[in-house]
Amino acid sequence: MNFDLTEEQQMIQKMIREFSADKVAPGAVERDRMKAFPVEVFKELSEMGLMGLPFSEAYSGGGGDTISFAIVTEELSRACASTGITYSAHISLGGAPLHLFGTEEQKEKYLTPICTGESFGAFGLTEPNAGSDAGGTQTTAKEDGDDFVINGSKVYITNASHAKHLAITAITGNEGGKKEISAIIVPTDAEGFTVIDNYEKMGLNASNTTELVLDNVRVPKENLLGKRGNGFKQFLVTLDGGRIGIGAMAVGIAQAAYERALQYSKERKQFGKTLSQFQVTQFKLADMAMKIELARNMVYKAAWLKDEGRPFTKEAAMCKLYASEIAMEVANEAVQIHGGYGYMREYEVERMMRDAKLLEIGEGTSEIQRMVISKLIGC
Ligand SMILES: Cc1cc2nc3c(=O)[nH]c(=O)nc-3n(C[C@H](O)[C@H](O)[C@H](O)COP(=O)(O)OP(=O)(O)OC[C@H]3O[C@@H](n4cnc5c(N)ncnc54)[C@H](O)[C@@H]3O)c2cc1C
Repeated sequence: MNFDLTEEQQMIQKMIREFSADKVAPGAVERDRMKAFPVEVFKELSEMGLMGLPFSEAYSGGGGDTISFAIVTEELSRACASTGITYSAHISLGGAPLHLFGTEEQKEKYLTPICTGESFGAFGLTEPNAGSDAGGTQTTAKEDGDDFVINGSKVYITNASHAKHLAITAITGNEGGKKEISAIIVPTDAEGFTVIDNYEKMGLNASNTTELVLDNVRVPKENLLGKRGNGFKQFLVTLDGGRIGIGAMAVGIAQAAYERALQYSKERKQFGKTLSQFQVTQFKLADMAMKIELARNMVYKAAWLKDEGRPFTKEAAMCKLYASEIAMEVANEAVQIHGGYGYMREYEVERMMRDAKLLEIGEGTSEIQRMVISKLIGC
């Protein structure tokens, strides 16, 4: 057993922590208010070589590991969760399926621009009638000569306005009445492809969440990602990795909310004492610190298992479920400790609470995580 980060992981943590404090945190309130995508932050992350962190150097990636990816996601989210989700989705949903299932040519053509930051990574699974039941996909891809002709729509897709291409799921056939779902890479500038960016969200306001409309979009058959009919399975594997990203985001948000509550409790005086002198506040903060520690350990364990090439589906679901639920609890308590000030935008804990809620929904709701875990423990 060794709970220490490697030298390289420590170096990445120090670098991204400093960058997040200096360059990401200062604009977070304003970006949330203005729904402004963090363009400048991502230019710098590209220059720092972090946009392809866990992918092979052969495609301009950083050759890093999943723990380092989790560290970067955690630190960015601690400063600004909109930046955190953009990064997490870029890597774990956008880049990962290409890295895992792409051919050599597909990786060169589509993964490389993701690693350099030239294109953002995105992933199109959810549809108006297929959310938790992602196999309920209705988008179709019909063969026509050397092409697929795709029709359908996708909802809530992160980063698509800034992506040059993305993998989506579509029905490519019916085998014995069973839907054949495949993954297909679609350029976002293809004729008939529309990206709509007009959701009014509760939180993560500076992140890009879009609706996609595919109206007779024609792509060559060589854009098929992985084996035909394996699209659904591939996306489930992709989501396992994505859940580590959501867990890391949750730890980052919870850490930020806790730090602010701790600091505030030492400054605010009522009844002649600081809040931190009341045992009720001390116990709240102790519980917050404990839960964050447990969540972080679980996120790192899932990431470590993935890096070791061992099964990690259960642990990824556990870390996502636990970390997202404690992030909501911690952010809620942080608002409570701030009292009326906590309800005000400038104190930021209200933003953290709004942002944290998505983590109990995206990449499989808490209920779906419990279903995954119960199946894997043999229920
Ligand atoms: C900001 C944001 C970003 C997103 N980014 C992406 C993205 O980049 N790519 C992408 O493909 N998707 C994305 N999503 C979609 C997200 O993954 C889905 O919203 C999520 O999986 C839930 O699906 P749904 O919204 O259709 O809810 P539903 O599936 O309709 O669920 C509604 C409720 O019913 C519960 N429920 C459903 N089935 C069961 C069951 N069998 N047993 C018990 N309870 C059940 C759910 O847990 C939930 O509480 C994003 C969503 C948001 C809000």
